Amino acid sequence: MYESFSQDTKTELGAVRQKSVCCRRALLYGMLYGAEIFSRERIFFDTENPSVLLLYGKLIRGMISCREFSDADLADLPQDKAEALLSSLGFAPGEPLFRIKRELIVCPSCAWAFVRGVFLSCGTVTAPGSAYHLEFLMRERAEAEELAEYLASLDLSPKLTERGGSLFGVYFKDSESIVDLLGHIGANRAAFDLLNVKIYRDIRNNVNRVSNCELANLEKTVAAANEQMKAIEAILSSGREKELPEELRQTLDLRAAFPDATLSELAGRHTPPITKSGVNHRLKRLIEFSKHC
Ligand SMILES: [Zn+2]
Repeated sequence: MYESFSQDTKTELGAVRQKSVCCRRALLYGMLYGAEIFSRERIFFDTENPSVLLLYGKLIRGMISCREFSDADLADLPQDKAEALLSSLGFAPGEPLFRIKRELIVCPSCAWAFVRGVFLSCGTVTAPGSAYHLEFLMRERAEAEELAEYLASLDLSPKLTERGGSLFGVYFKDSESIVDLLGHIGANRAAFDLLNVKIYRDIRNNVNRVSNCELANLEKTVAAANEQMKAIEAILSSGREKELPEELRQTLDLRAAFPDATLSELAGRHTPPITKSGVNHRLKRLIEFSKHC
C-alpha cells in the first residue's frame, strides 16, 4: 500500500505537462538532484516506474545528444555524458553539486517543477488512511540541509532526520503541508485522496468525541447564549443599560464582547472574578430586565 501510493503519485506527476523550457529544465534538474548518484563521474537515476523513466529519458534527450542510448541506459550516465549534461545545465567545472543552483529556477513554476523532480527521484508518501508522512531521502547531509532550506523558502516547514545507511530524510508529518506540497507539484489526485480521508477522519473524530449527552448539553448552552444575546441587544437598543447597577453592566459588556465564551470563562473575566453561578444569576437578571425594555 505504502509503495503503491507513492508509485501512483509518481505516475500522476510524470504525466504533468510542462510547457516552458525553463520549467522542463528545472524538472530535470530536480530529478538529477534527488538521483541515487549525482556526480561528475556518474549520474544514476534509480526508478521502478516506467513512465517516470520515459519522462527522464525524454528530458535528457532534450539536453544532450545520446541517440545511441536506450531509455534504460540513460538512467545510468557514464562520465562523458554526465559532464555534457552538467555543462548544458550551466554548471562550471568544480562547481559544488550539492548546492541547489538557483539560476536554474527561473519562474514561479520552475520552483515547484524542481520539487516535483526531486520527489520523482527520491520521494515517498504514505497512503491515505495511515499516518501522514512525505519524505525525500537524500544521500548526503549537505544535500538534505540544502533541500530543507529550499523548501522553507517556499513557505514549507520540513524536518530533517538521519536515517540508517548514511541516508538523510527531509520530511513532513502534518497533513496540511503534505496536501499543500502535493498540490503545488501537480499531484492533485493524490492531494485530493489524502484530503478526503482527512476530512472523513476529522468528522468521525468529532462525532466520537461529542457523545449524545454532550451534544444535548451543547444545544442547551447554545440556546441559552442566544437568549442572552437577544436580551443584551434589546437592552442596548433601548438605551436603558445606564439604569443597570454597576455589576450587571459589567456582565452585560462581557457577554456582548464574548458571545461564544462559556459561563466559567465569563466568570473569570469579571473584575473581581465571580463564580459561574454568579454569572448565571446576573444573566438571568439581565434577561428579566430586557423584558421591560
Ligand atoms: Zn519555468
